[in-house]
Amino acid sequence: MQPSIRHKSVLFFNQFVLVLELLFFMVLGGCKEQDHPPAEVLPPVEAAPSAELRPAEKMPPPAEAIPSSELPTVKETQKQVEPNITETILSFARPPAEPNRLASDPNRLPAEISQLMAEPNRLPVEPNRMEREPAPVELEWSHPRTGERISERRQMVSLIRDFYRLTEPEVLEAMGNVPRHWFVTSQEQSRAYADMPLPIGQGQTISQPYIVAYMTNLLELNPDKKVLEVGTGSGYQAAVLTEFTPHVYTIEIVEPLAKAAATRLQRRGYKTIETKTADGYWGWEEKGPFDAIIVTCAADHIPPPLIKQLKPTGKMCIPVGGPFSIQNLMLISKNEAGIVTSQSLMPVTFVPLVRKK
Ligand code: SAH
Repeated sequence: MQPSIRHKSVLFFNQFVLVLELLFFMVLGGCKEQDHPPAEVLPPVEAAPSAELRPAEKMPPPAEAIPSSELPTVKETQKQVEPNITETILSFARPPAEPNRLASDPNRLPAEISQLMAEPNRLPVEPNRMEREPAPVELEWSHPRTGERISERRQMVSLIRDFYRLTEPEVLEAMGNVPRHWFVTSQEQSRAYADMPLPIGQGQTISQPYIVAYMTNLLELNPDKKVLEVGTGSGYQAAVLTEFTPHVYTIEIVEPLAKAAATRLQRRGYKTIETKTADGYWGWEEKGPFDAIIVTCAADHIPPPLIKQLKPTGKMCIPVGGPFSIQNLMLISKNEAGIVTSQSLMPVTFVPLVRKK
């Protein structure tokens, strides 16, 4: 049966519509492909940990939910952040003190802040960061840094400042920076930050932290000063001195102690300290004269060679007195004209300065 002309035109119309539809879907399909990246560029889908999956009702509202009028301006945001930075600085610079004392001393905090702000290189590192990693070191000489046992170190500094009332910020910072546990024996590790001297072998002791801080403070050190220590012992005091100056010389008479301290200091990164095994009574003439001398063993008189090796305007601190009795911690000062004066500061007990036979 031949299709009628009408039927033919209907068929033709249907085919035309079909072709149009086909063209329409092809164009639509092409657009869709442009909307999505090709499958191979999609990042791999990772399964989220189950703990992070939260029911929809607990999800935070989308950002658009906050009316833009309530969003802080850039300036306001800065204002909100600044107090936190200040808090961080204070929490290290001022380890926990009894509240009453701080309350009774309202001028103290701003002075501390401005001091720290004025010297950005001295800014302490934010505490949490110190727990994780050493502070960035931007120093001209070797100052090892570590976050090890940081809370015990802060407690020790806190005691020196708040109980013993030594408030010199640079000295407190130095005491906080040097890890005392690096310098005590494995048997004494648990007491490394205790407020007491500790045995270091050969019948000798590492001094009580407060005494180390007190004597260091007397020397008025800065990076240009050259300092001599008599009685290296563990090397701890020398490490504390290195916080102030790269020019540190130290003498120890007991050879095993001298060698152990030299190795320890090198291994820990105190590269600038010069050590020597000798009788410190004679000082270290080739390296002198010194701006400061610290004697960490008790002499029955002030050794004249040490006075001679002290520069004009120099300071020497030395315990003077008989062995195993109460001695006097003395501060010896030489003025511009070379005149020497002495001050008796406080009773102390140090191991004796021994002499080579
Ligand atoms: N400053 C040390 C502790 C000092 S203990 C520290 O930080 O660990 C006193 C030290 O002085 C002892 O090690 C002792 O052996 C040493 N000493 C005693 N007489 C000495 C002398 N004549 N010369 C050098 N060192 C001496």
